Amino acid sequence: MHCPFCSAADTKVIDSRLVANGDQVRRRRECQQCRDRFTTYEVAELVLPRVVKENGRREPFDEEKLRAGILRAVEKRPVSMEKVEMAVAQIKHFLQATGERELPSRIIGEQVMQQLRALDEVAYVRFASVYRRFADISEFREEIDRLQTESTDKTESQ
Ligand SMILES: [Zn+2]
Repeated sequence: MHCPFCSAADTKVIDSRLVANGDQVRRRRECQQCRDRFTTYEVAELVLPRVVKENGRREPFDEEKLRAGILRAVEKRPVSMEKVEMAVAQIKHFLQATGERELPSRIIGEQVMQQLRALDEVAYVRFASVYRRFADISEFREEIDRLQTESTDKTESQ
């Protein structure tokens, strides 16, 4: 990186160490031109991306909204609160790992579907039917058939 004093491009790392319990890297650098020294800190960017809605509007990621959506789908289903929290955490982790500053809301919806599918098929279909707004009843029927076939396959292979 450029020297903050003389803007020379050539700076050298003379010391590098972990700080803040290993969450940051502190580097001492020396400018090869003016010989001034400065410090940089490197941290992982774990900011949740902003959500781009279908109408193009941006809003901050809303964990409560995500949780509420999942809870609505698993209502009266045998899914523990712990599992719901794990799903929320995994979706957040996925969103952070993309490194993107903005993501279409569709990506989050797909993540929710993926999590619900692993948790409970009824919850998954509930969410998917609202989320995907199945074009017609036959498309919905196909999805149910597909799920039934898949669960039969699972049973047979056990
Ligand atoms: Zn310099």
